[in-house]
Amino acid sequence: MTAANAAPSPDARRITDWLSARQAEMTAFLGTLVNIDSPSDSKADTDRYSDFLSKAFATDGLHIITYPQEKVGTHFRATWHEELAPANQQILVILHMDTVFPVGEVARRPFRVEGDRAYGPGVCDMKHGHVQTLYAIRALQALGLAPKRQITVVASTDEETGSLTSRGLIEEEAKRSAAVFVMEPSVWPGSIKTSRKGTGRFSVRVKGRAAHAGANPEEGISATDELARLILAMHAYNNPVTGTTVNVGAIGGGTRANVVAAEAWGDVDFRAVTVAEADRVVPAILGLKAHNPEAIVEITGGLNRPPMERTPAIVALYQHARSLANEIGFDMGEASTGGGSDGNFTAALGIPTLDGLGAVGGGSHGVSEFVLLRGLLERTALLARLMQTV
Ligand SMILES: [Zn+2]
Repeated sequence: MTAANAAPSPDARRITDWLSARQAEMTAFLGTLVNIDSPSDSKADTDRYSDFLSKAFATDGLHIITYPQEKVGTHFRATWHEELAPANQQILVILHMDTVFPVGEVARRPFRVEGDRAYGPGVCDMKHGHVQTLYAIRALQALGLAPKRQITVVASTDEETGSLTSRGLIEEEAKRSAAVFVMEPSVWPGSIKTSRKGTGRFSVRVKGRAAHAGANPEEGISATDELARLILAMHAYNNPVTGTTVNVGAIGGGTRANVVAAEAWGDVDFRAVTVAEADRVVPAILGLKAHNPEAIVEITGGLNRPPMERTPAIVALYQHARSLANEIGFDMGEASTGGGSDGNFTAALGIPTLDGLGAVGGGSHGVSEFVLLRGLLERTALLARLMQTV
């Protein structure tokens, strides 16, 4: 990441020209990927998708290792220019192949293009990123350009459900990496994500004691009363200045109006911008006590994706990427987001991570999901240049 990289590069022009000549081919390939259903919860479908995509990488000469799973689809790892490792730490590119859409979604609304926009389930989040990664490598190969380090691609099948079976693989590869590129969609209109909130979940169970609400309420212990106090105590951690959010989003309890409630429960979402803030709030919430000492309060859970903090190393990597984008002919802002991704895991290990290097688009997880095809060219060229220079 030297200042020389900011100077106009003939390679940027060659890569852009090579990709521009293949815009139709890239769009068609995106259509092929979108038209394969790959919901996180259908192992058969996601296995089929994983097999298809890993074979595409294998065709380009990458070395593939597959990681079959019992309940979710097969993850895979693809490596390129292994001779550059381990003296030269690798670059890790993170993809997820699963979408939030059920089997049959593709039949209902298959891939389609209108003007510069492409639509379809998972087109933005994140099948666009699969096309980018493959074509960035193809462009470098075709032009006889090499990456600066070994390129390792990890493609998982359970990101949308919390990366429960892929996290270990992602973290193991991240530890060997000089930088991590996460091909999640950008933030409209094309900013990349240099920080993400950490996300956590808590589950609250309260046990009280039932009694007649009119005849002998003093013999009861109200679980709903306890839960209400816990909700207020937890919501007191909401802070717009620090960005911490606590949301008791679903609650329940009791049986009928004239019975003191014996049980109550709540499901809680928690987000924090810094590890320090998470370390402060998580134990405080787990340690909340019952108001009535005879009530039993059980709070379980904690952080499942640590915050991705905007460290100086991430800022430097972003500035480098931005200068490469300027050479290609577009500007790229930075943004932070409250949502979590696999970038949270890698950044928490101290590895410089850029997230949102994927599609320019919007509407992810909904029927209006789209990408800009102009972005497909630009962002693929950017990824190729990042592989070449970082
Ligand atoms: Zn995603």
